[in-house]
Amino acid sequence: MPANILLVEDEPAIQELIAFNLQQSGHHVLRADSAEAGMTLVKSALPDLILLDWMLPGMSGIEFAKKIRADERTRQIPVIMLTARSEEADKINGLETGADDYITKPFSPRELQARIKAVLRRRAPQMTDDTVEVKGLRLDPATHRVSGNEETLDLGPTEFRLLHFFMTHPERVHSRAQLLDHVWGDHVFVEERTVDVHIRRLRSALEPTGHDALIQTVRGTGYRLSAM
Ligand code: CA
Repeated sequence: MPANILLVEDEPAIQELIAFNLQQSGHHVLRADSAEAGMTLVKSALPDLILLDWMLPGMSGIEFAKKIRADERTRQIPVIMLTARSEEADKINGLETGADDYITKPFSPRELQARIKAVLRRRAPQMTDDTVEVKGLRLDPATHRVSGNEETLDLGPTEFRLLHFFMTHPERVHSRAQLLDHVWGDHVFVEERTVDVHIRRLRSALEPTGHDALIQTVRGTGYRLSAM
C-alpha cells in the first residue's frame, strides 16, 4: 500500500535516512524541514500520513499537530510523532494533542513500517489492501479487481480509487473538494466538475450489476455511497 507521506524533520541526516527507507518500501515522500514548510505542502495536497518530528525550529511539532487537528480539512490525516528518548515524558502530551502514535528515535526501518501500516489501517482504510464489500459489490485493492455479484466490472484507475474511497467511508456525504483532496491528492489545477465526470463514469461502470444505485447525489452537497 504505497502512501503519500509528509515527513517533517529538521535534521538533514535523519530526514535523508527516513525518506530513503520509506521510498524503499514504495512510499512517496514529501519533505519539509520545518512545520511552516510542512503546512505549505499540506495546503496544496493532503498527504495520507504525516511523520512529525517533535523538536523543530520555529513552530514545534506539537503546535503543528494541533493545527492539523483543528482544521476540518486536515483533521483526518494520521500523524505519527518522532521523539527522542530524552523526550519520553512528552509522549503523553503528544498523544493528547491528537497524534495517532509516536516512535522513539533511533528506530529501525521495520519498526517504522509496522507503525505506519497499523496507523493507516486504523485511520485510513482506503490506504490498505483489505478487500471491501458492500451489498454484493466487492473491491480487492491487492488485485485491483471489482465485481458485482461475482460478475467482473471494468473500472478506470480514477474510478477505482473513487470507489475504494467511497466503500471505505460509506454513508457519509463527501463534497467535491473533499473527494479531490482524498482521491486526487494533488489537485491544485483540477476543477471540481472533474469529480462529476468521474462519478458519471463510475456509475456507468457499475451499471451492469445495478450497483450504480449505491452512488447517490446529495443535492447541493456532494456524493455518498449508501447501502440503505
Ligand atoms: Ca528535530
